[in-house]
Amino acid sequence: MSDVPAAHARVSLRAVRHNTGLLRRAAGRAEVMAVVKADGYGHGAVPVARAALAAGATWLGTATVAEALRLRAAGIGAPVLSWLNGPGADWAGAIARDVDLSAGDPALLAEISRAAAGHGATARVHLKADTGLGRGGCPLAEWPALVDAALKGEADGTLRIAGLWSHLGSADDPRDRRCLTQLDLFRDAVRFAERAGVRGAVRHLANSAATLALPDACFDLVRPGIALYGLWPADPLTDADLRPAMSLRARIAQVERVPAGQGVSYGHTYRTARRTRLAVVPLGYADGVPRAAGNRVPVWVSGVRHRIAGRVCMDQFVLDLGDTPAGPGDEVVLFGPGLDGEPTLAEWVRPLDTIANEVVVRIGERVTRVYTGQV
Ligand SMILES: *Cc1c(COP(=O)(O)O)cnc(C)c1O
Repeated sequence: MSDVPAAHARVSLRAVRHNTGLLRRAAGRAEVMAVVKADGYGHGAVPVARAALAAGATWLGTATVAEALRLRAAGIGAPVLSWLNGPGADWAGAIARDVDLSAGDPALLAEISRAAAGHGATARVHLKADTGLGRGGCPLAEWPALVDAALKGEADGTLRIAGLWSHLGSADDPRDRRCLTQLDLFRDAVRFAERAGVRGAVRHLANSAATLALPDACFDLVRPGIALYGLWPADPLTDADLRPAMSLRARIAQVERVPAGQGVSYGHTYRTARRTRLAVVPLGYADGVPRAAGNRVPVWVSGVRHRIAGRVCMDQFVLDLGDTPAGPGDEVVLFGPGLDGEPTLAEWVRPLDTIANEVVVRIGERVTRVYTGQV
């Protein structure tokens, strides 16, 4: 891969297809919505969406309408749901391009209905219940009013209730008792809507962790995000054979000989213990390498692990090569699937007190995404 940019994120679409297949099997008879918000968790929304669809996902999920329209602009015609939009969002654009919209509040539902009426169209809406997360959606006490308003929209032809949904709160451990409570409350909300006259709406609740660990949460459709990319947020909950799709790589820009006692990078938070060689790696916090990774996180070069030496800067960090015979142009792997001995994201997130989602989604624009495994 000599034509590959010096700093790049390699994304295996084969891994995305593998993970999609695995999620499909875990979901049983439920369909799979591949969640590709935030540019596919930093992996590239369009290539990931295509790979997931090729492997049997039938829906796509995004936060904003703009993200959904980018999929449409790329020629992707699969059902797409966009769930995070506020007053004045581009409802008309979404309706015109067959993007399903979430509504958890009557005021937004009314906006969507007016936008549809203005275009002589019918908007497909997914009514969102807050079953306990406390982060958007319709409080259960107001659910009957929301369902009623949506049914009026169905009667006047401006709305079609395409889905009923909610989101789990203890999503990193779906076996948590609070998830089971949410499951019960979601069933109640669905039952209420169906008794009120909602017909043919897809019911969906499960994120990745619930898809893999809580089969009762799968209903008609599951919404996995992080597992498509082969990652668990932190520690694995099951022994599912997820394959990390991304590996972050760069080539050493320069090697410098220094004496013992040399302070390294801003603030000299690292000092060489002996005469050694320092390597400059051209990836920094502007590229998504967390500043907190300095002196904490291992990377891999020429088959050897080295902890990042000193502070991570905006554009670069330093490695103390010691006896490792690496030179300018040699490849550094920050993280990957771990198959060659390189660190995995699981090893990054523990010392950084974060989750894998945050690391991959913040990989910057300067880092070219290079795809492997296209079909
Ligand atoms: C991000 C998101 C998901 C995917 O969650 P993962 O834990 O990454 O699988 C599913 N549903 C909604 C509403 C989301 O915002």
